[in-house]
Amino acid sequence: MKIYNTLSKRKEEFVPIEEGKVRMYVCGPTVYNLIHIGNARPMIVFDAFRRYLEYKGMEVNYVSNFTDVDDKIIKAAIAEGVDATVISERYIEECKKDMQALNVKPATTHPKATEEIQGMLDMIQTLIEKGHAYTAADGTVYFRTRSFKEYGKLSHKNLDDLQGGNRSLLVSGEDQKEDSLDFVLWKPKKEGEPAWCSPWCDGRPGWHIECSVMSKKYLGEEIDIHAGGEDLVFPHHENEIAQSEAANGKTFARYWMHNAFLNIDGTKMSKSLGNFFTVRDIAAKYDLQVLRFFMLSAHYRSQLNFSADLMAAAKNSLERILNAASRMQELCKLASGDALAEGEAELLAKSAEYVSKYEEALDDDFNTADAISAIFELVKFMNTNLNENSSKALLDQVYASFYSMTDVLGIIVEKKEEILDEEIEQLIVDRQAARKAKDFAKADEIRNLLLEKGIVLEDTREGVKWKRA
Ligand code: AMP
Ligand code: ZN
Repeated sequence: MKIYNTLSKRKEEFVPIEEGKVRMYVCGPTVYNLIHIGNARPMIVFDAFRRYLEYKGMEVNYVSNFTDVDDKIIKAAIAEGVDATVISERYIEECKKDMQALNVKPATTHPKATEEIQGMLDMIQTLIEKGHAYTAADGTVYFRTRSFKEYGKLSHKNLDDLQGGNRSLLVSGEDQKEDSLDFVLWKPKKEGEPAWCSPWCDGRPGWHIECSVMSKKYLGEEIDIHAGGEDLVFPHHENEIAQSEAANGKTFARYWMHNAFLNIDGTKMSKSLGNFFTVRDIAAKYDLQVLRFFMLSAHYRSQLNFSADLMAAAKNSLERILNAASRMQELCKLASGDALAEGEAELLAKSAEYVSKYEEALDDDFNTADAISAIFELVKFMNTNLNENSSKALLDQVYASFYSMTDVLGIIVEKKEEILDEEIEQLIVDRQAARKAKDFAKADEIRNLLLEKGIVLEDTREGVKWKRA
């Protein structure tokens, strides 16, 4: 299979370091708020990519971090008057709930930055010893960017152009750097911020060092694939490469994959611009499988515009697939005949052509848009050629192919356990009681529990109303 490598700007044949095994790292979210659907794009896309590698028989060690120490988390903690860990732990839990609701498989490991400080201290020390980092008077440790000769190789930027652009941006404190291109590895503590002891000063890590360290610890010094949204190419991934390759003396990651943005009215969806919908907002209106299908209906390197019309179209398309799945399940249940009947070998061969088409699409830089077209062709084929007269042998085989094709995209989920109306009413009463007692955490917990079971609550003047999504 071929994947587009940001490093070479070309599609390259994917050959893992170790046959049959893939080591993959995906940069995860900074946990200071509920995730928005832009953040969900890399989660969904790379989860589907991982599932495809598994479909092809590979064993994937998939690591995705939570950035749980950061300025935005500290700001949120100060605003609420709580410890930073209260904020980060809360939003890690919320993020995990969203991931589950989006049918994103848990990573093999989900490391947290605050639990990997020792590894960061070790790597920073190595960088200092090797001359790639230095300490300023106030204890800040900087990476000496020009000491890493290949700096700029991922983002295809020229060091001198970067320098030219940066000079005018010099802000106070920058003058203690040897060079404006240098970036922070470790920074001194400020009053009220979380801090750890280090040989240089009590403080906390810069953002980039965590991924170099966690990737090394859980996957090794050299990995197959490193991925994330395209806004991470520079400076985050460029800096990760500099740190890891300067410290370890080895290629950091062989393939770099980046998803394009999810936009709204042509502009990147982001927290800072305020033009976002959280995954929870969407869950109140749609089954999240629709969102997942919508994300995969475009190629991951194409920009994708979010709109109500496109979601409605995704909903209709997904329904066609789900209806075909139900019909096939019914046919399989009622059918008999362990061997193919006359003329069915040709039908089976025809259905295999759609599977090949699907695999060809995904082998070509994970083109999920074309893979979905192949699924629709198979749906049409099943609806026209398979019926009550088909043998169980044929139905089972075609359905198995169809099921694994949709399972890679994660768009068909087992039906959730039905929740009875009385149970819902009781949970709503409990939630109202929790709210009255100002136990908002419990009230949210009940709302989320209901959401997981597909029950959407709406607070109206007449009281709480509910409906099945
Ligand atoms: P952050 O929490 O901002 O570090 O983002 C977590 C992940 O979401 C990163 O891989 C980002 O590149 C990605 N991301 C953030 N906003 C968008 C967007 N609008 N479209 C696609 N990916 C995004
Ligand atoms: Zn990262």
